Formats: sequence, structure tokens, C-alpha cells
Amino acid sequence: MNFMYKVAQFFQGRYGIDKFCYFLIILYCVLCFANIFVRSFILTLIAVIIAVYTIFRVFSRNISARQKEAEIFEGVYYKIKYFFMNIARHMSQLRVYCFHKCPHCKAKLRLPRKKGKHTVCCPRCNKDFKMRVLF
Ligand SMILES: [Zn+2]
Repeated sequence: MNFMYKVAQFFQGRYGIDKFCYFLIILYCVLCFANIFVRSFILTLIAVIIAVYTIFRVFSRNISARQKEAEIFEGVYYKIKYFFMNIARHMSQLRVYCFHKCPHCKAKLRLPRKKGKHTVCCPRCNKDFKMRVLF
């Protein structure tokens, strides 16, 4: 009982684990797994630095600084996630739609996929341009 109290006292006021910590732990595991095959000193060093930084973050008492780091991570994470989701959405629509850029205003247009030559009116700049859908 006394030991548990001391452990609870130790963890009071510490930052703890967040999404960024989970990411760092997964990155550490991936690097360790890759290092089984590569056997690189640099990879080992990077993995150790990541492990030490993760432990430092978990036990840190400077909560505001850790929250700022987590915010930066979340921003980057959502940008990357949005980028890949956009590609996946684009790929899933490729059978029904074709994507073209307007030559005048560079707007990205999603047009129904129909074979042949077409004249398209851009909804943004209202200028016509010709395009050809091959397949
Ligand atoms: Zn346009």
C-alpha cells in the first residue's frame, strides 16, 4: 500500500502518454524491427534517441511545452492523413469521373467520364476549353 502511494506520488504532475507518445513508440518499434534486417548503428542510435525522448515526455513536468509539441504533431498528422484520404477518395472516383485542371485558372475540375472530345465550361472562371477523354 505504501509502495503504491509512492508510485502515485511520483506520477502526480507528470505529463503522461498522449497520441504523440504512441506515435513515437510505434516509430521506435518499426525502427527496431527494421534494424533486425539492416543492422545499422545509426538506426540503433535514432531508435535509442526516440526511446529516451519518449520517456522524457512521459515523465516531464513541463506540461505546457509537451502540449505545444502534441499540438504541432496533431497538425502535421492531420495534414498527412488528409493528403492520403484525398488520394484514396480520388482513386475511388476514377472509374466514374475524370479530373482535369482548367488551363486558365488552374482550378481542379471533376468531370463525368465520357469517351471523346468535349468542350468544358469552367465553373470558376466561366471560360471554355476543349479536352479529350481517351478511356
Ligand atoms: Zn477556370
